[in-house]
Amino acid sequence: MSMNVAIDGPAGAGKSTIAKNVAAEMKYIYVDTGAMYRSLALYFIRQGIDKDDEAKISEACKDCDVTIGYEDGKQQVILNGENVTGLIRTEEVGNMASASSVYKDVRAKLLNLQRKLAKENDVIMDGRDIGTCILPDAQAKIFLTASVDTRADRRYKELIEKGESPDLEKIKKDIEERDYRDSHRENAPLKQADDAVLVDSSDMSIEEVTNAIIDIIKSKM
Ligand code: C5P
Repeated sequence: MSMNVAIDGPAGAGKSTIAKNVAAEMKYIYVDTGAMYRSLALYFIRQGIDKDDEAKISEACKDCDVTIGYEDGKQQVILNGENVTGLIRTEEVGNMASASSVYKDVRAKLLNLQRKLAKENDVIMDGRDIGTCILPDAQAKIFLTASVDTRADRRYKELIEKGESPDLEKIKKDIEERDYRDSHRENAPLKQADDAVLVDSSDMSIEEVTNAIIDIIKSKM
């Protein structure tokens, strides 16, 4: 049986950085489910569909084929044959992903792909509903969070490093809005699974969080 680790939590808690480190250390495959939602979001944006138009979004899902590949150990998202990995990290795509992921057809589209990956491989999968919906039987579940201020500061620094001139208050507001939407939606809301271990990374270094999570996983093996 494959080893499945679920890491859920809000945007900016450090899930992907930590999950990549843990995957490298434990020789698991890292599955970034947010990237899958983002690739669908890119398709909806390209089609000029409004984020509130559930009917059109559901219809558009039928034309999307999302698959995952790995290049040098890094996840690549393929949308209808095109590698879109480099195109999905913008705020516009992130906001469309957050808005469109509330719809049940969007979630249903990705559920089987995520479960299949977990069945066939040892995975550490990050997202919002991995421990609660996608992999309820995962051997280890972590809910990774951090305060809004910490998450906004991290994002702010990231953008400064990229040479952008971000507005900290706007980043904070976006994070709060996204948290609210992710945790109050009807379908698969962001929520700590009953059997998940809570890790608050606000005052921890990346190395400390990585080690804490490896310890949790080892304790469940
Ligand atoms: O994690 P990331 O910011 O890349 O995810 C983009 C959006 O996709 C999130 O804001 C969330 O609304 C949605 N998402 C989700 N379920 C997941 C992963 C991401 O609803 N498992």
